Amino acid sequence: MSAIEPPTERTCERCGRVEEWDEDQQTFVAASDDSLGQPHCLHEWDINGQYNPLQESES
Ligand SMILES: [Zn+2]
Repeated sequence: MSAIEPPTERTCERCGRVEEWDEDQQTFVAASDDSLGQPHCLHEWDINGQYNPLQESES
């Protein structure tokens, strides 16, 4: 309930793709070969609500 930490794992709610944060590449990468999901999926990550500022709409 104190500091807000950036998520280190995210899951696509559409295709089930699972990604983990890679500190070396500074980006999310697929957690494993069988969690790639669909290549053309728009990927709706389960962390969007609290981590994607582009989703804000105050008007
Ligand atoms: Zn997806």
